[in-house]
Parts: sequence; C-alpha cells; structure tokens
Amino acid sequence: MNLRDRHEAVEERIQRAVQRCGRKREDITLVAVTKLFPADVLVQAYELGMLDFGENYVQEFAAKLPHLSRLTEARFHLIGHLQSNKARTASDLFHVIQTVDSAKLARRLAAVGKPLEIMIEVKLSEEESKSGAPPEALSGIAGALREFPHLRLTGLMTMPPWSEDPERSRAYFSPLRELAEEHRLPHLSMGMSHDFEVAIEEGATHIRVGTALFGRRKKA
Ligand SMILES: *Cc1c(COP(=O)(O)O)cnc(C)c1O
Repeated sequence: MNLRDRHEAVEERIQRAVQRCGRKREDITLVAVTKLFPADVLVQAYELGMLDFGENYVQEFAAKLPHLSRLTEARFHLIGHLQSNKARTASDLFHVIQTVDSAKLARRLAAVGKPLEIMIEVKLSEEESKSGAPPEALSGIAGALREFPHLRLTGLMTMPPWSEDPERSRAYFSPLRELAEEHRLPHLSMGMSHDFEVAIEEGATHIRVGTALFGRRKKA
C-alpha cells in the first residue's frame, strides 16, 4: 500500500468510529506521526491534505524543518519527552508542545517568550518508563502555565502501556477525559494506530497516528 491508500484507510476507520458514537469528523484532529521518517514523507503527507504532524525528537525535527518551508499551513506537535534544556529549541520549532509534565518545564518554555499551545502529558499507568505528570501534579502545572498568557493550555495527552488489545487502553482514556473535564480543558490527545477508535469513543480530539499511515519505522 502507498501513503494515499493508507491515509484513505485511516480516514475510513475514523469515519466509522465517529459515526458509531455520534461525533463529527471535524471534531478529530489527525496528528500524523512522522518520527524517524525523512522530510519528504511529511511533504507527501501534506500534499495529501495532512496538516498536523507529530514528532518525538527535537534534534531530529530540527534537521528536517529546513526542508519543510513549503508546508506553510502545517502545525508541528512535539509528542516526545522534552528535557528542560531543550525548551528553547523546541519552542522555536513547534506550534504545540503536547508533553509538558512539570511546572519547571512550563516556566522554561514561558521564559522563551514565544506563543505556544500546550498540553500536559499525564501518566496514568504504573510503568516506570513512561513519562508524564501524575494526576496529582496537574493542578500545580496548570496553575504555573496560567501565569503566562502566551502559553495556551488546551488539553491533556496520554500514552497507555502497549497492549495487543485496544480495549485495554480504555482504562486510561476514560480517566484522562474525566481529568480534562475536571480542569475544563477542551483537548484530549490520545489514541495511536492500534487503538484510536477506542480513543475516539472516549472523547479524543487529537489522535496520533504513525504506523497506520507510514508503515513500520526503524528503531530509534
Ligand atoms: C510513535 C508515537 C505515536 C504513533 O504510534 P503508532 O503506533 O505508530 O501510531 C503516537 N504517540 C506517541 C507519543 C508516539 O511516540
């Protein structure tokens, strides 16, 4: 399958999921995850109408961005863990930082001065390797962000532990939605290639899809 066919297949899956739960296609932002793929893959995806791109690694994306000047309408989302010492570079490269997980990082991004859309990454699983803030830390981070009008906190993001069974992700998606409601945040970034239908049923506004669009990646 080529990118056009894979994109169509993903769009069909999104359509079926939104219809099943009475939502609308335009309520869902498809974030095409292009980590470890070269810049020309983003160009091809953009030409097929994809506008939102998710990247995990600041340095990798910094190398690609000079080749993306044609993508004038694109929005770039950082979806990988961000170290405080890369806050300045990240704020230059991305429109949306989905992975803020501490008040310290929020202040580092604020200090750069560039307007950014922010989501807080929440850790809802016990797995030690997963980044993200524990739910108890949310109020503190949200409070820190609200001191800076140029940082616009719009939502929460999470990444459940990997499971073959997409239904297993529901136990993480549903609490994320409750937390977002509690904090009056409109956006929910959740769901990947194998479980985005479940995420849409649970209220996702942003799904982050890599493999289903671009095929398998090389290991980082
Ligand atoms: C790689 C990645 C994705 C995309 O995963 P696929 O299974 O390839 O769709 C989504 N979100 C995050 C945070 C990722 O690192």
